[in-house]
Amino acid sequence: MHKFFNPESVAVIGAPSKTGPGALNNVENMLRYGYEGRIYPINPKVKEICGLKVYPSVLEIPEPADLAVISVGRDRMLSLFEECVQAGIRRVVIISQGFADADRRGAELQKHIVELAKKNNVRVLGPNTMGLLNNFHNLSTGFVDIPRPEKYPHVSLVAQTGVLQVDPKDFAYNSWGKAIDLGNMGDIDFVDALEYFADDPETEVIAMHMEGMQRGREFLEVASRITYHKPIVALKTGRSSAGAEAALSHTASLVGEDAVFDAVFERAGIIRAKTIAELQDTLRALVCFKAMKGPKIGVVTATGAAGVMAIDACEEEGLELAELPQGLSEKLKKGMPEWLRIGNPIDIWPVGMIGGNYPGAVGTTVTELLKSPGVDGVIMMTPAVNSPLHIDIADLTEVVSEARRKAGNNKPIAIWPYSDDHSVFPDRYEAIDGVASFHSPEQAVKGLSSCYKYHKLRNRAIPSGKRFIIDHDRADPVLERGRKQKVLAGEDALCLLNAFGIPTVRGAIAGNWEELETAASELDNPFVLKLSGSAFLHKSEWGGVKTGIDNMGELREAFREMSENVFRIDPKLEIESFQLQEQAFGKELLLGLKQDFQFGPVIACGMGGIYTEVFRDISREIVPVDRSVAERMIKSLGIYPLLKGVRGEEGVDMEALLDVLERLSFLAVEIPDLVELDINPLLVSETGCKAVDARLLW
Ligand code: ADP
Ligand code: MG
Repeated sequence: MHKFFNPESVAVIGAPSKTGPGALNNVENMLRYGYEGRIYPINPKVKEICGLKVYPSVLEIPEPADLAVISVGRDRMLSLFEECVQAGIRRVVIISQGFADADRRGAELQKHIVELAKKNNVRVLGPNTMGLLNNFHNLSTGFVDIPRPEKYPHVSLVAQTGVLQVDPKDFAYNSWGKAIDLGNMGDIDFVDALEYFADDPETEVIAMHMEGMQRGREFLEVASRITYHKPIVALKTGRSSAGAEAALSHTASLVGEDAVFDAVFERAGIIRAKTIAELQDTLRALVCFKAMKGPKIGVVTATGAAGVMAIDACEEEGLELAELPQGLSEKLKKGMPEWLRIGNPIDIWPVGMIGGNYPGAVGTTVTELLKSPGVDGVIMMTPAVNSPLHIDIADLTEVVSEARRKAGNNKPIAIWPYSDDHSVFPDRYEAIDGVASFHSPEQAVKGLSSCYKYHKLRNRAIPSGKRFIIDHDRADPVLERGRKQKVLAGEDALCLLNAFGIPTVRGAIAGNWEELETAASELDNPFVLKLSGSAFLHKSEWGGVKTGIDNMGELREAFREMSENVFRIDPKLEIESFQLQEQAFGKELLLGLKQDFQFGPVIACGMGGIYTEVFRDISREIVPVDRSVAERMIKSLGIYPLLKGVRGEEGVDMEALLDVLERLSFLAVEIPDLVELDINPLLVSETGCKAVDARLLW
């Protein structure tokens, strides 16, 4: 990969003979971009392009170039690619479209080329790509002439498009240091790019634009490793509803593709940007700020209104307003009228105006905030009106630099210089170490919060699943049956869970009334009667669940009613058997498991019962789920306060619930061919939890 970004020589195959407007000549672009290596344009029809000697074929250039860039129609691609292989070239960028991005023939052609490449140890980028950009090496392989930026941060981009590369002003912070467009990902993919950026000293922050992915588990592994020393920000688009359509299990419909990506990013320590603007602000913060180690913010503002906006945004982002540093209030109030109130946000305008020294007041405040151990980051909102009449208060860059020097630390300072002219001050502020300039109070808060988020991600623990004892005597026969039938429900499903140590209600299967009577005599009332058998996967829909049965008379009545219900819906259907259970009490949760074909098993947990799909109050995590991940799952739920107990109500047995989640994670590892699993509901109460209904699917 290093040579892809830093080639000493490039063969440009299919270089256009024309130059100038409309030619889309990538040789011309490369020269304009300042590439200093050797360029070998290949074109059998011309002798010279932009003053460079042109070769009729790649077989005739004086060396095997480090990189070949091909842009020709797809019908000529294979033979030209073969020539590259023959010429000993090991890295090829295929710019052209019309492959897997187009039709079946294109997809086959792409497959063929990639196979050929693999056989010959050649790596391919694309097809359908803008290729590579490396400002540290003056390299841009694209057919769009983009200006070389004067300033570029150590931010590297891996994308599935070239548009972010063409227009960094709208996507990046200033620009990209390096960028790679994966195009169709015929060969080189996210994992390859990340592996390179991981150890690349010119990459400090990684940005990703992602639509889909291959090699999910490897991605998870390499990204998880990287985020302990470099932040990754992802803009994942195409929030598809795939997987959300009616499925056999609730879990499958509640764990759609996009939700899985959320879980993957969380597990890998990747910050997800929901919008392009968020991507830009996050990158700005990660580039400009050093770590923010806590959530406490000091706000100094010349406008009370913006202070309120900042408070709202802090609450939204989980940041807190810091206590005022000791002595600051007294310092600012010295010589001020007694009506002046100093709080956080610190409204600095009256202090500055009455005291006649606005810059001084801001300077003192920022210095004290930075110095205070109770403050983790500072927001400063100040007028930056670029008029000669206001220049005395507009430019506080010196004030901020001095505060930074005096405080002697690099806590982040997020500045919103509000102004009619953004051409001057943002850049000046950002020249100061640890300072970033934003366009609104909200963005300033967001910037600090992503910085804090990364601090937490970087210090996260690696989850490792626990092992439990399995009761094989009970599990194995049921497991075998499940694999054969592809589905397990009713008592079988509960039996399997129970063999993994997940508590279940006591119950039995009965083929007729006599057996039901016997079953009832061995269980404690109240009872629950249910239809059982493969015809009744969603029992309630058949009128096939009756709770609160206290005695034999009521059981008989329920038995009769249920038989009638089924007869009414389908007179030909015969009821194989009934399930009789003890009734459990508590709050209804859904616990589930879904095999994601990319990333492996995903565990879901949330509100159960009949409104599950209405509220979709679900958290999802990639296996393994250990104790602390399980805790995070439960705490992130909307119903968490209900589980904890409100208004004097006792909370549920949290330990028991966490234990079930850990056991479910273990089960997912032990039964890797399981596709879906639903426990709906798991009843949780103060005294423990019990699964009362489950379905498993192979
Ligand atoms: P299905 O999901 O196939 O309709 P369930 O077995 O989940 O059938 O039963 C439907 C509902 O009946 C459950 O969501 C729960 O509210 C209640 N229920 C079922 N079994 C029990 C039980 N043993 N104890 C308490 N409530 C139960
Ligand atoms: Mg159910």
